[in-house]
Amino acid sequence: MRLPWRVLTPHTAPVRRASSVPAGMLGFVPACSTTDAQSVEQLQDFVTRARRLFAITGAGLSTESGIPDYRSEGVGLYARTDRRPMQHAEFVRSAKSRQRYWARNFVGWPQFSSHLPNSAHKVLQRWEDGGKLHWLVTQNVDALHSKAGQKRLTELHGCAHRVVCLGCGAISAREDLQRRFLSLNPDWTAQAAAVAPDGDVFLEDEQVLHFRVPSCEDCGGILKPEVTFFGDTVNKATVQFVHDRLAESDAVLVVGSSLQVYSGYRFLLAASDRRMPVAILNIGATRADHLAELKVSGRCGEVLSVIQPL
Ligand SMILES: [Zn+2]
Repeated sequence: MRLPWRVLTPHTAPVRRASSVPAGMLGFVPACSTTDAQSVEQLQDFVTRARRLFAITGAGLSTESGIPDYRSEGVGLYARTDRRPMQHAEFVRSAKSRQRYWARNFVGWPQFSSHLPNSAHKVLQRWEDGGKLHWLVTQNVDALHSKAGQKRLTELHGCAHRVVCLGCGAISAREDLQRRFLSLNPDWTAQAAAVAPDGDVFLEDEQVLHFRVPSCEDCGGILKPEVTFFGDTVNKATVQFVHDRLAESDAVLVVGSSLQVYSGYRFLLAASDRRMPVAILNIGATRADHLAELKVSGRCGEVLSVIQPL
């Protein structure tokens, strides 16, 4: 039986502030009040009861690694700039758009690809090792879960560290494409002003005009990050695979996602249909708050670090 969603009181003793977030990394983490001890205890109970936990993670997990999200109030990219993420149809249709996209992506790549997993990624990986975590679905494309060693993992929206050819479907490493960019654009230089969650950066049109974009070495097709752009849909087989893993699980934990995008939210609907207990750890409201028996507001790394996978 599902318990009613508990409204958590802010009057109980605060959790000690663990130093899980390195100095300088907090610029992209939304403001949040100190997580109260009672809600952490409730999350501990939730995790203790679960035998085969299914976790869904989002951009809120990676802000503590220094990667900005799109939607957070005040600090997300929507709040900070007027830029919007690449639309799939525009990328396919327009060579100019691809040129602009790849030029920015090229400049942002060294920084974007260097981000490291934070304590939240590491905790989830340890839960997998210990048998607590059955499957992890991430909406992030930053490879931080795989860098942390997560194996039972589905990257729902792909991964920016891979490139797909729209002609022949070949998958290649984004790092290899960086070498091709460098050899095609030896004199091309640009300064990144800001890095977006998908590795995009801001450049003037004039700079972009001279950037040369390679095509597939095998078939001459269009190269695209192996990432689900806005306006595209997640592969049906991948969605079914995740539903199957959900059906094998006994509880759902959402970590660092507002679940605004349907591709992730649908698994919460499926969990609700199956009467599975749901807990949400996120700063701010989510689309699935009404489906959760427990909602904890706090920084993912700090809260998860004090939870024991008993
Ligand atoms: Zn190809």
